[in-house]
Amino acid sequence: MKKTRILCVIGKSGSGKGTQVELLKEKINDARFMHVVSGDLLRAFIRQKNPLAQKVGGMMNRGNLAPDWLTDHLWQAEFLKNIGKISGAVFEGTPRTLNQTHLIDDVCATMFDVKPFAVYVAISDAEAKRRLLIRLVCAKCKQPVPYHLIASRPKTCSLCGGPIVRRKDDNEKAILNRLRFFRKSVLPVIAWYRKQNRLIYVNGEQDVSAVFSELWNGLRKRRLV
Ligand SMILES: [Zn+2]
Repeated sequence: MKKTRILCVIGKSGSGKGTQVELLKEKINDARFMHVVSGDLLRAFIRQKNPLAQKVGGMMNRGNLAPDWLTDHLWQAEFLKNIGKISGAVFEGTPRTLNQTHLIDDVCATMFDVKPFAVYVAISDAEAKRRLLIRLVCAKCKQPVPYHLIASRPKTCSLCGGPIVRRKDDNEKAILNRLRFFRKSVLPVIAWYRKQNRLIYVNGEQDVSAVFSELWNGLRKRRLV
């Protein structure tokens, strides 16, 4: 039996990691390959009308991160719900702390007998800033418009038909905050995967298809696809 494959796709906001994950799912073409997006799980959680959901919703609206324990609870619940039904999973934008990295390792060791691999879609701070200052997102499902489509000024979301807007926290100050967080918290995660020889480094400053072929080749070299 083929081993379960668990991938964590990491990158600064603006790196295009979401687009790469979509391409990856399309190419793998397996309905049992689970896609874990912590942001989506959190948004579903805060739609519930309970006091904690309201509190966390308020934090996120002010541009703060939801607490790790809640994020971790939500993805672990998804895994538990799907025991025996998945052939693998890709995390998008998780882990972002060393603690989470070790937790994902623990869960994957017990549930699937595998160690996850990280894919780092790398772009410079300057490029992240440049992209985020022109970024457009869907007001309804929150998905960003892929960068290669921004120039065509879409009015509605291709996924859900929602209106396309700018995100309030895509301003200079909030962007610098996110980059600072990435340096402080996520770079050690990347260094750790590298030390473990479980890092696939991809240059994110190329056109979408070139980024994807580098990513796919990296996965093939590791016999992950
Ligand atoms: Zn949408």
